[in-house]
Amino acid sequence: MDLHDRLHDRLLVQLSTRDVYDARVLGGQPQSGLVFTGQAAHDAVRMVRRQGYAGPVLADRRRYAGSGRVSGTAGLSAHWIADQVEARVTIPLTDSGYIGRNDTRALRTILDQASRWDEVVAVLPLHADWLGPDLPALTAAIAGYGGPVALVAEDAAAGARPEAFRLGLPLLSAGAEALGALAHGAPWAAVGVREVLRHLYPEHPEPPPVRGGWRRGGARNALVPERLAFVPVERLPEDPCPCATCHGRPLRRLAGAGELEVNTHNVTVLHRLHARMSRAQHRARWWEERLHAPPHHVEAAGDRVARPGVQAGGGAGLAGPEEP
Ligand SMILES: [Zn+2]
Repeated sequence: MDLHDRLHDRLLVQLSTRDVYDARVLGGQPQSGLVFTGQAAHDAVRMVRRQGYAGPVLADRRRYAGSGRVSGTAGLSAHWIADQVEARVTIPLTDSGYIGRNDTRALRTILDQASRWDEVVAVLPLHADWLGPDLPALTAAIAGYGGPVALVAEDAAAGARPEAFRLGLPLLSAGAEALGALAHGAPWAAVGVREVLRHLYPEHPEPPPVRGGWRRGGARNALVPERLAFVPVERLPEDPCPCATCHGRPLRRLAGAGELEVNTHNVTVLHRLHARMSRAQHRARWWEERLHAPPHHVEAAGDRVARPGVQAGGGAGLAGPEEP
């Protein structure tokens, strides 16, 4: 099986290395796979490979996030690529630093250096403006590079998230919009297993100007299928969930469930949606219609939450710049 088959239409689950014992459960769905995160990610890859995990596995060093983040001008590590190859990743990811606003030098450094390798994915962790006013420069640079890339979209200062999924390029550390990227033609996209892995928070974030304030990283959030959004478990609606984890019980019962059960619900719902999307004639239209459908159940619950990528009322949980 060549690379295209191994990473075609895959909704990956992005985990911390401490999730390694749950990895086979969370990455066990058809069309799934794993992305381990952090400095020791390749060790986790080696471990799940030893346990016989056969799906795609990637390793994201995530040097671009957190308060001690590295700039994209820092250069890429050949050792990091070699460690991943040795651990048998599906395709190595570069250990890119962060690409700030207008930082074309960082963008150019990453793409220039990534081109030294035949088969690696150039990771592009981007300030929100690259997906707004500077999008033409970004798409020109990616087209000029010609090799595979994966985007990490930083939240904008107000907590809103740029709509990177519409580019149809692979995404790392995404929320439900990972599915949107697949709908728009991305070969793969990764949804984080907890809030800090579903976002790239600004280095010096301003507290959102809404009630609720910051939620620290430990809060459990469950995917509400109707809203295509992750919601703190204590604010879940009563709606029954038909997924294979909940078996028709109300979503709200996840408030009393453990993290693994909440996360199993999340990946089960996502893969159910993925399977339905795959049967649609026009996948992008299917996604956009879902995205803009009136959230009738939500209004009934009196608890409307923004579309994915748009944080409302602190509701989806801004976890701050903690890193796994
Ligand atoms: Zn469920």
